[in-house]
Amino acid sequence: MEIVTSPREMQTKAEEFRRKKLSLGLVPTMGYFHEGHLSLIRRARADCDVVVVSLFVNPTQFGAGEDFERYPRDIERDERLATAEGVDVMFAPEATDMYAEGYTTYVDVERLTEVLCGARRPGHFRGVATVVAKLLNICRPEVAYFGRKDYQQAQVIKRLAADLNYGVKIEVLPIVREADGLAMSSRNSYLSPEERRQATCLYRALARAQALFAEGERRPAKFLDEMAAVAKAEPAAEIDYIEIVHPLELTPVPKVEAGSVAALAAFINKTRLIDNTIIGEEDLKVGARPC
Ligand code: AMP
Repeated sequence: MEIVTSPREMQTKAEEFRRKKLSLGLVPTMGYFHEGHLSLIRRARADCDVVVVSLFVNPTQFGAGEDFERYPRDIERDERLATAEGVDVMFAPEATDMYAEGYTTYVDVERLTEVLCGARRPGHFRGVATVVAKLLNICRPEVAYFGRKDYQQAQVIKRLAADLNYGVKIEVLPIVREADGLAMSSRNSYLSPEERRQATCLYRALARAQALFAEGERRPAKFLDEMAAVAKAEPAAEIDYIEIVHPLELTPVPKVEAGSVAALAAFINKTRLIDNTIIGEEDLKVGARPC
């Protein structure tokens, strides 16, 4: 596996791959790999001639007082894992190369970024959209792979790719979970054993939503109440939001339907976690395999 840090060098390489008619799959990440990342990498490896994984903890998507400084990093381990998965190129630029002096250009995706996490983390999706736009320009992928764990992010990126005519295929892959249901996340490493136990309340709230739907319930308020009750039962948990939204518009639904998305964010003490499920379309039983 080759490690490239210069955006310019990466772009030249990507252009060479294009000239040789090799299909390039890009997996953008902030590193500290877990099985969620690896599922994207494996899919890219299966689909494409060349797999590029980007590893960049993007400063512009973190708000003031968020965890940019302490975000977990272990590039040697990530290199080993990526090599073992047959990744061709790891693109790991420095922030000073991605945002050189005088940098002033940002990408704003409207509407979709104003709800859910966008409403609670001002500027977050502007940072995400900007860095993804840059990564697409640098790596010129045919396909880019994202996880449904970050549901809103995936919708924002699909919109961005279509609106700015990137001509890239955006693949969104299922959420990989721990055996007890907790969605895998680099931020899970912040949790103490007791917090880790309580953190399953996000998953349990989503499982409750699936159960309600299976029982025939369709009133959003009932879902929100019951999901909140599950989360609130854990003393360390503080709900940031719980919503049932339209899968594309991300706006609250008047009636819960198959395909509606239950999404929530909660703090477990200081650690903010997110999770979601597509109502009526997933088996969220405890111990279910990665879904
Ligand atoms: P991150 O490094 O957290 O920015 O994540 C990089 C990519 O992996 C994003 O597209 C995420 O949505 C995806 N991802 C993160 N966690 C999971 C998970 N548990 N299951 C599937 N994909 C994930």
